[in-house]
Amino acid sequence: MPQSVMQQAAAAVINWNDSGLSILEVSHRSSEFESVMSRTKLLVKELLKVPDDYSILFLQGGASTQFSMIPQSFLRTKGLYLDSGFFAQKAIKEAHFFGDAEVIASSADKNYNYIPDIQKRITNADYLHITSNNTIEGTEIFNWPEIAVPLVCDMSSDIFSREIRVRDFDLIYAGAQKNMGPAGATLIIVKNKFLDSVDKQLPSMADYRIYRDHNSLYNTPPVFSIYTSMLNLLWLKNSGGVPAMEKQNIKKSMTLYAEIDRNTLFTGNAAVAHRSRMNVTFKTNDPAHEMEFLDFAASRGMVGIKGYRTVGGFRASLYNALPLESVLALVTTMQDFEKLKQSKQVISEKTEMVINTKI
Ligand code: PLP
Repeated sequence: MPQSVMQQAAAAVINWNDSGLSILEVSHRSSEFESVMSRTKLLVKELLKVPDDYSILFLQGGASTQFSMIPQSFLRTKGLYLDSGFFAQKAIKEAHFFGDAEVIASSADKNYNYIPDIQKRITNADYLHITSNNTIEGTEIFNWPEIAVPLVCDMSSDIFSREIRVRDFDLIYAGAQKNMGPAGATLIIVKNKFLDSVDKQLPSMADYRIYRDHNSLYNTPPVFSIYTSMLNLLWLKNSGGVPAMEKQNIKKSMTLYAEIDRNTLFTGNAAVAHRSRMNVTFKTNDPAHEMEFLDFAASRGMVGIKGYRTVGGFRASLYNALPLESVLALVTTMQDFEKLKQSKQVISEKTEMVINTKI
C-alpha cells in the first residue's frame, strides 16, 4: 500500500477522525462505520463501473473460503474449472466436496507457465470458474472466454490493476490484500440474478444472500481492513483510477520483462502472450547463480523476490502501489549482476590463459 495510506491508517489507529476512539475499537454498528462501509462500496462501484444490478459484499475467510462457498451455493449439476495454476487447483479441490467439478482445460503439462485454451464448446454447466491472474506462476488472462454459462472469476491478485467489464462476469471475488487493502476482507461482486438463482437453504455465514440483505453487517465485519481499503481506494481514485493504474502497470511490467529478455543471465517463466503484469516470474539460466543473485539483490535492499517453491527462481510483484522507481532499481541490479559475472568470467579466462602459457 502507498505510504500515505499507511500513515492515514496509522493515525486512525490512535485517534480516528478526532473522535478520541481508535478505528480498532469503534462499533461496527455505529453510524460512522456504516458510512465507511457505504463509502467503500461506492468507491468499488465507481472505480470498476459496477452496474446497478450487481451487489458488492465484504466477507471474511480470504479468497480461499470462496473456493468452497461458490460451489456450495451455485453448483447444482456441474461446475467447470480452468486449471491454470496453484490457486485454481485449490478451488477445484474444494469444489469436489459439493459435486461434479470438471476441469475443461489445464496447463499442468508445462508447470502452469501458460493460460490453457478453452477449445471445448461450453454449455450446460452451472458456471465456469477462472483465475484471472495466477499469482505464483506469473500468468494472466487477457482474453476472457466467450461462453454461454455464468462466469466466476478469482481476481485476487489483479483486481483494480486494469479495466474490466464487470458485466462479463456473474461473480468476481478477491482477497483484499493485494490491490485493495490489508488482509481481512474479501470483496465479492455478484450479479443479483445469479445470486437469486440459488435455491437452497444454507448456513448463514455461507449464504451470500445474508450478506446482501444485511449490507455485509450480519456479523462483525473486518473493520480495519474495510476502513483501510476505503483509504486505499480513495488514493487510487485520486491517482487517476483504474485506467491510470493499468497504464502504469503496463509500463512497469514491460520495463522488467524487457530486461529479462535482454539480460544474458535470466529467462522469463511465463509464455510471452500470457505474462502477468502483476507477478513477474523469472529464473537464472545457470541454477548456480540463483542464490548468488538473491544475496546480491538483498545487499541492495531488495528482499522477498524468491519465487514460490513450485516455480522456483524469482517473483517480483508489481502491485498498484509499487512505484516505477522500484522496478528500475531491480533492473539496475540485474544489469549490475550481469556486469559482475562478465568481469569475473574475463578474469577467470585470463587466469586460464596464463596457466596455459606457463604449461
Ligand atoms: N487466489 C489467488 C489468485 C491468490 O493470489 C490468493 C492468495 O495469494 C488466493 C486465492 C488465496 O487468498 P487467501 O489467502 O485470501 O485465502
